[in-house]
Amino acid sequence: MKVRQLPCFLFALSAFTAFAQSSNPILVTVDVTDAPRKILHAELIIPVKPGDLTLVYPKWIPGEHGPTGPIDNLAGIVIRAGGHELNWKRDDVNMFAFHVTVPDGVSSLDVKTDFLATAAASGFSAGASTSANLAMLSWNEVLLYPAGFDASQIQIKPAVKLPADWKYGTALTKSGETNGTIQFDTVSLEQLIDSPLLAGRYFAEYPLAPEVTPKHFLDLAADGPEDLRIKPEALAAYSNLVRETGALYQSRHYASYHFLVTLSEQVAHFGLEHHQSSDDRVSEKTFLDDNLALLSADLLPHEFTHSWNGKYRRPAGLATGNYEDPMKGELLWVYEGLTQYLGEVLAARSGIETPEEYRAALAVNAATLDARPGRTWRDLQDTATAAQILYDTSPQWDNWRRNVDYYQEGALIWLEVDTTIRQLTKDKKSLNDFCAKFEGLGGNTPPKVVPYTFDDVVAGLNAVAPNDWASFLKDRLTSKSPRAPLNGIEHGGYKLVYTDEPGEIVQAREAVNGDAQAWWTLGITVSSDGHIEDVLVGSVADKAGLGPNMQIVAVNGRQYTASLLGDAINDAKGTTTPIELIVVNTGYYKTVRLDYHDGLRFPHLVRVNGTPDLLDEILKPMTKVPKR
Ligand SMILES: [Zn+2]
Repeated sequence: MKVRQLPCFLFALSAFTAFAQSSNPILVTVDVTDAPRKILHAELIIPVKPGDLTLVYPKWIPGEHGPTGPIDNLAGIVIRAGGHELNWKRDDVNMFAFHVTVPDGVSSLDVKTDFLATAAASGFSAGASTSANLAMLSWNEVLLYPAGFDASQIQIKPAVKLPADWKYGTALTKSGETNGTIQFDTVSLEQLIDSPLLAGRYFAEYPLAPEVTPKHFLDLAADGPEDLRIKPEALAAYSNLVRETGALYQSRHYASYHFLVTLSEQVAHFGLEHHQSSDDRVSEKTFLDDNLALLSADLLPHEFTHSWNGKYRRPAGLATGNYEDPMKGELLWVYEGLTQYLGEVLAARSGIETPEEYRAALAVNAATLDARPGRTWRDLQDTATAAQILYDTSPQWDNWRRNVDYYQEGALIWLEVDTTIRQLTKDKKSLNDFCAKFEGLGGNTPPKVVPYTFDDVVAGLNAVAPNDWASFLKDRLTSKSPRAPLNGIEHGGYKLVYTDEPGEIVQAREAVNGDAQAWWTLGITVSSDGHIEDVLVGSVADKAGLGPNMQIVAVNGRQYTASLLGDAINDAKGTTTPIELIVVNTGYYKTVRLDYHDGLRFPHLVRVNGTPDLLDEILKPMTKVPKR
């Protein structure tokens, strides 16, 4: 166990000594009533002393692993002291820093900021977050605070004004309400930025696993009232998730936990973890549509797992203690990879998805990683090290660039770790034991950060099952093999095969998006309107000269549809007749002939008879509560 690193001070001491660190907290009130018009208004009262002061805007957002603070949408900055407006000057180099001189006799600054919630519905918390009927308030969007302090040292008393008849959910504790403004208990800056607030007209809060303490809530805000009709079975499964995490981690590191779920087509779709809540943004009909539910089955288990793995236990390079110092992503294959693995396993253990659905998802992920030529020039470690530039990359030539592969490939490696521990200990120990010790270190605690290094991970694994884990992990992190690490699947008693029938995940994606999945045949994925999303390097499509964003106009002379492309692949099986496509590329048409004759191919996991069924064992619930 290590203590949190001291923050590096980027600014000269004189730049922030004018902050009066006293018993007086910073006061911040955010007016959300204009959220439907895509603008938030904030007023801050910051205690200060006379002299030079630097105020900063959060740049490195925890969980986003990059300098993603939406500074471009910070507007309306006005700083006043004693009724007089002060001049501020943005730093020449650091766009997130503002210099101001506090006059003599002044003990507090009145600061106004607006956040323009105008981003597109893409990206992460800087993306779209409001609509006519809901808003997700990420406090980092509106905050300026004195530079140079650890975020845990700055105290803030937050308040929020919501549109009439909107309800809200948050991990913050309400302390009072005056004239429609809701006040919350004073918290540290770290805790405030870690505690977003979800509000909306169509809002519901469901308690989960009521027998468990601390308390857990599923908070839903939606585009329409009908979207809130979550099925009792789904609620029961999320209650199981709470129980399963107790059995797995043997600890909790929060006072209460809120899943803050936005059901909307108007906001960006992603999940962002916090100690005591998660910001989970999914399609409007997720709880009404089985395909949408399946495609986001692991989202809440993933973000919840981060409360242990990512927030409480955190790689030292990501535990910077503030929002100014750059983060180092080298251990994201633990932070995200282990979370990806555990999130998927917990989804199955809780009954959010079935073991068959888990295996269908694993088959697609394994097959996608197994056909990923970028792995021959870029090892998995580099995807983690370069995380800050890989979250927002284009899907075009993605298989050659690679992106944040440490999620799914990390999950394959952790499956291999789990099955290896089970083999080494003759099934007496498993990754569950590692989780209980590593994530449950110190038992139940309030939210705090306990950083770790690569050596700590290795030591934690050795404490469960002695092995050369350092070499085991380094081999997989630095491999340039063209093939994905599939040993965990094989140790689990399954193998990856291809058949002409699409599995549940491919079917769900086709139903939701209208995509055509010809990745494991021609080497292309095609959007519903015929645009090629990506071309697999080395595939038939690649060799025939197809490229990303070309639009398929016709298949064998007929206007493109997804089913026509599938039929053409099927019909060409065993023949010598090429599949003929007419494509348009930046205004120019051409005919492309694809010599592919092996028929449709979709990935599946099949049981290898006579081998131990460790994968089935892994997915069994650890609690005794009946599942759906
Ligand atoms: Zn994550």
